[in-house]
Order: sequence, then C-alpha cells, then structure tokens
Amino acid sequence: MNNLYDTVIIGSGSAGSIIANRLSKDESRNILVIEAGNDYPTIDSLPENVFYGHGNLNTTASNDADPSNWSYRAESTKGGPTIRIPRGKIIGGSSSINAQIFLRGIRDDYDRWAEFGNDKWTFEEVLPYFLKLENDLDYGENEYHGSQGYMKVKRFPKKKWDPVHDAFYQSCIDYGFEDCPDNNKPDSTGVGPLAFNQINGVRQSTSLTYLEDVRHKPNINIKSNSYVKKVLFDKYTAIGLEIITDKEEYKLFCDDIILCAGAIESPKLLLNSGVGDPNKFSNYGIKTVLNLPGVGMNLRDHPMTYVAWETRDSFVEPSSNEPRAKVALRYTSKNSQWKNDMIVYMGSGTRLMGNPEIPEGIKANLTLNLAESAGEVSLNNHDPSAYPNLFYNYLGTENDTARLMEGIRILNEIGNHKEFQKHVSNINAPDISVIKDDNLLKKWLYNKMVTGHHSSGTCKMGNDPMAVVDQNGAVIGLENIKVVDASIMPDCIRANTNATVMVMAERIIDLW
Ligand SMILES: Cc1cc2nc3c(=O)[nH]c(=O)nc-3n(C[C@H](O)[C@H](O)[C@H](O)COP(=O)(O)OP(=O)(O)OC[C@H]3O[C@@H](n4cnc5c(N)ncnc54)[C@H](O)[C@@H]3O)c2cc1C
Repeated sequence: MNNLYDTVIIGSGSAGSIIANRLSKDESRNILVIEAGNDYPTIDSLPENVFYGHGNLNTTASNDADPSNWSYRAESTKGGPTIRIPRGKIIGGSSSINAQIFLRGIRDDYDRWAEFGNDKWTFEEVLPYFLKLENDLDYGENEYHGSQGYMKVKRFPKKKWDPVHDAFYQSCIDYGFEDCPDNNKPDSTGVGPLAFNQINGVRQSTSLTYLEDVRHKPNINIKSNSYVKKVLFDKYTAIGLEIITDKEEYKLFCDDIILCAGAIESPKLLLNSGVGDPNKFSNYGIKTVLNLPGVGMNLRDHPMTYVAWETRDSFVEPSSNEPRAKVALRYTSKNSQWKNDMIVYMGSGTRLMGNPEIPEGIKANLTLNLAESAGEVSLNNHDPSAYPNLFYNYLGTENDTARLMEGIRILNEIGNHKEFQKHVSNINAPDISVIKDDNLLKKWLYNKMVTGHHSSGTCKMGNDPMAVVDQNGAVIGLENIKVVDASIMPDCIRANTNATVMVMAERIIDLW
C-alpha cells in the first residue's frame, strides 16, 4: 500500500512553516504538517496576543496557563533555582509568541559553524538567504538587505523612541560605545535601534507569512493538536510515527520525516525513539535504534540577567503598544576573544515580556551573547509525552560569570549618567553594596539567571563524534529522517535566534 503522505514535517514553527512552504512548490509531493498546538486557519481567528506582538499585552510567553505556551521548567545554574522556559505550542511555534527582534548573527558566528565541519554554512554562504528572507522597509534592497522576502522588517526611528531610550543611547555614546544605526550590517557593534519583524503592531510569524501563503494548496495538509511521541524505524530507516490526539493514538507511515520540533522537543523525540546515548533511555524500556551520544547535549542559550532601577516620580509609563526594548547595546567584554559577546536590551517601561519573575522597575536585560557553558535536555520519565529534564548550566565557567559581573558594573555606571538620572533614581537590583563585592555579586547572579529564550544546539550539525546531523540536516547513520530547527545550530549565534532559524530553513532546502 502506498503511504498517504510523502513528507511529514513535525512542528509548524519558525523552521517547519518555511520548509512546508518551500517543499509545497513541488506539486507532486504530498506534505503533512503535524503540530502539537492549536491551528488558527484564518487570520481573524488568531487570539489577539498572537496576532499583535505588543510588549504590554498579557503575553503568551509570560502566562504559564496559556495553551499556546509549552511552559517548561528548567534548572538554571548547577543546583540553582528553577526557571520558566516558554516556547510556542501553536501554529507558527515560537515565532507566534516571541518578541520579534530581528537580529542576524555576526560574520564570525557562521564562519565558526564552518570550522565545526559545516563548510556550506560560512557567512558568505548564508548571507544571500538573509537577503531572501527579508523585506527591510528601512533599507530596501542593497548589498546587505533584501526587499522581496516574506519577513517585513522595521526599526523604530529615533523620534519614536521612549525617553528612557534616548537617555540610554546618550549615556552609551558618552561611555564610549559606537553609534549603530543598523545592527544587521555585518561587523556592526554599539548602541542603536533593534530591527523587528513586527509591522504596525502585527507579528510577522512564519504562520502568518510562509504558511498563510500555501495552506490552501491541495498538497499541504495540517493536523493540529496532534503530538508525535515516537519515530518508527525499520533497522536504520525511519518509516513512520506514533501520534497522540485527544481522541485516539495511531501510527502513520511516510517516505520522509523532517523534524522541526525545536531545540527541546526534537532531541526529546529522538531519545524517545531510541536514537541517542542508550544510557540516557534504556532504563525507560526504550530499545536502541542508534547510539548517537550528542542527542540532547550542547544545550545552548543566551544566559540573561538584569539590572533594575527605581523610577523617579516624574517617570511616565509608555502608553503605546510598541515594544519596550526598542534600543540595544552590543559590545565586546574586556579581553574577550569573541566580538559582540554581550548584548543589553534597554526596556523603557517597568515590565519586559517573557520573564515575569524579574521585579518591577526600569530594567536593562544583560545577556551573554556567546556563553561558554552548555547544558542538556534529557528524558525523565517512561511516558513519551512527559516534559523532559532541562538543565541550562548557566555560569558553568568562570569566564561566563566574570563577563556578566563586568556587564552589571558597566550598566551601573551608565545608569549614573545625568540623562539617565532624569528618569531613574537608585539601582535596586542588584543593590549597590552587592555590585561592589565580587562574592556577593557572584551569589546574586547564581540566583538571578533567566533564559534569553534562545535554546539551541541540542542536535548539532557537524562531523565530530557529538554531531547529530550532517550539514544537510540528515541524521547521521539513519535514512529518511532530517532535523531542521534551532537544535541543529552547532553553537548559538551572537544574536536572537529567530532570523537565523528561518535562514537555516531557507538555506537547507537548497542543499537537498
Ligand atoms: C518568549 C520568547 C521570546 C523570543 N523572542 C525572540 C526574539 O525577539 N527574536 C528572536 O530572534 N528570537 C526570539 N525567540 C526565539 C525564537 O522564536 C526561536 O529560536 C525560534 O522560533 C525557534 O524556531 P524552531 O523552528 O526551532 O522551533 P519552534 O518555532 O518553537 O517550533 C517548534 C514547533 O514544533 C511543535 N512541536 C514540538 N514537539 C512536537 C511534537 N512532538 N509533535 C508535534 N509538534 C511538536 C511546537 O508546538 C512548535 O510549534 C524567542 C522565543 C521565545 C519562546
């Protein structure tokens, strides 16, 4: 009997929706997209907080009870506090719940990927796909920007910045940082406006762009509220899936499987299917298909912490629906071997999206854009639908801790600038006495790390013994199964991950 579908894509997120769009051009290929979360087949049916990407709505990411949020829990630092890990469980995946900051990695990020055994992923190789992806409404078509892509991109001009942004910008310039009008220009650094894939408040998710354009086609089928619990193998060849829905569990057979379930669920699904280090799953009764020790290892993220200041009585909460962090600073920490290894998102209101555990006050989110430490995704139960163990291992090296300590001290100085002091008074987290004392500051950091929302690297591509996929996304040692999502990044990039995940999907299609 012929299989019902030629290709099954698991997950409709940033990568999955793009893969579906591009593969659907071949009308002879019958494609099924399976999504664990809800589908919203018309734009009008989208919940308001998915359609709009506002920072001051009750965001999906900050609400654990929202059905569109997987709402994972994780160990932050070794033995440290449990933190929230939001991810999108909805058509469009995390692109439907994210903050829409549209930032490319820097040249060195992709050139390092090539050094890890992926010569088709140098900066020169990926740059054309950044151009293909975007429709940059500020810069239009030029050497570094595109105007024909699905992703409309825009920055907030200076006249639309909030007063705190103006003050932060001036303080950074006076501190000695460069002006950076276009963060997406290669080799740029310094302080300036962030680009957003949000236009007039409307989120440019991959569902509203790439999927919307093809979902009417006869060869695209979408099954939502369907959770893939296992991939089925005949020896080393993937032949089908086990799927759970509210109504029934069933098996489905297909010619080709593309895993786009994201950096947490893709490795979990492989481990549940017997692909990975057998010591990590044999005690749950799972039989080994292939010993691939890298599955679930190399969990990368952007470890994030914050500095918060008390507001002055004259401070007025921005009332617009626009993002709070319109301006960012990228810089290189002292003696670092990595350029732009730090980023600061300057919030102009008293709350930033996604991390409600951060206290009230004007906040700057300080983030390690290239950490040294890596964590792990592992199974914790014989039930394939159970949430995995997530250990992020933030501050796993002295250098990671030292760079964040330096960053907090820089932000304290910037906050003392006279322009900034018009809006804020005392620094209230960390307390100034903590900032001055190395041991106290280390202890404070250990307890105050949260996710930068950029989980990646858990099925990394390359050719070393810990690589899980080759540079075409094919799972090493297996047939008919590929992975394309944030999990295959060999290392995290020095930027928010969405633009790069989308570029990876666009690029990889041309490698097949
Ligand atoms: C709160 C938040 C804020 C962020 N802000 C930004 C930002 O401003 N800028 C930026 O660049 N990046 C941001 N990111 C990160 C960025 O959105 C992600 O890196 C990117 O969306 C990941 O894409 P992906 O394709 O790997 O996975 P996802 O987009 O997460 O897609 C995975 C999909 O697979 C589905 N799925 C998972 N397991 C299964 C299964 N077993 N069966 C069926 N379906 C399954 C999921 O429901 C989901 O739809 C943010 C992320 C979050 C969570």
